Amino acid sequence: MKKKLALFFTALLTAFVVVACGGEEERSNEQLKVVTSFSIIADLAGEVAGDRAEVDYLVPIGEEPHEYETVPSDFQKVSDADVFYVNGFGLEEWLERLVENTGDVSIVTVSDGITPLPIAGEEGEDPHAWLDVMNVITYVENIRDDLIERDLEGAEEYEANAAAYINELEELHLWIQSEVEVLENPSIAVSENAFQYFGEQYGFNTYGVWELNSHEEGTPGQISRLVDIIQDENIPAVFVETTVDKRYMETVANDAGVDIAGEVYTDAVGLDGSGAETYIKMMEHNVTTFVEGLK
Ligand SMILES: [Zn+2]
Repeated sequence: MKKKLALFFTALLTAFVVVACGGEEERSNEQLKVVTSFSIIADLAGEVAGDRAEVDYLVPIGEEPHEYETVPSDFQKVSDADVFYVNGFGLEEWLERLVENTGDVSIVTVSDGITPLPIAGEEGEDPHAWLDVMNVITYVENIRDDLIERDLEGAEEYEANAAAYINELEELHLWIQSEVEVLENPSIAVSENAFQYFGEQYGFNTYGVWELNSHEEGTPGQISRLVDIIQDENIPAVFVETTVDKRYMETVANDAGVDIAGEVYTDAVGLDGSGAETYIKMMEHNVTTFVEGLK
């Protein structure tokens, strides 16, 4: 009887070890699941994670992230994720509502360490820090550090991916500086005044019909204010964004007697085939469009 019991326990122990090993193996083969609030952070996370993580995002390309209406599948995506990367500085106004219903999820603010600019003439922080390439290096470092903490086995890979990508970002930064040299005191006028960080870094004055999409009004007063600025400062052309209704800037361009010199990317990367599918490509597109339109 004693022997039988001992055998039984040995069998039980063996079974337990086998199950535990199986579980362990499965886990080490499983990719990390990363979800980000919008497409630009997803591109950065994908660069750092390489094959070690599956990266998804919530706000569809072409929609703006400030006043996004979450859909039921978003709750599932975030609940299933190991980590949820957000921009912060008030960009994701819908965040609280979302995480109320997703249970425990690890939320990381990837702009951590960046000094925010104030929203022009208003209370609060301007969230568009990613439009300055130097800030994006901070985003990438935060993502790298978080991935290493979650998946120590991948540390070397994350370090190498981040270092290679930061090199590309530094090149992009230098390229932008040299491209914009031909412009003298240039100004960017768009619907949402999203280029403040970009303007500070690369020497542009920046104007919008409104300051933030979530404060969007497009009143006749706001439109005529921008028209006056364009005429007073002899701004030669204006731009439209891929994520904002173009009719406001069409009215502005008409009233000010200037052309719309192209479409730029602020709050999302471009769709497949647009030539702006990544953060680096969208920045190259923006800079080329500004230089062509304003020189
Ligand atoms: Zn925006």
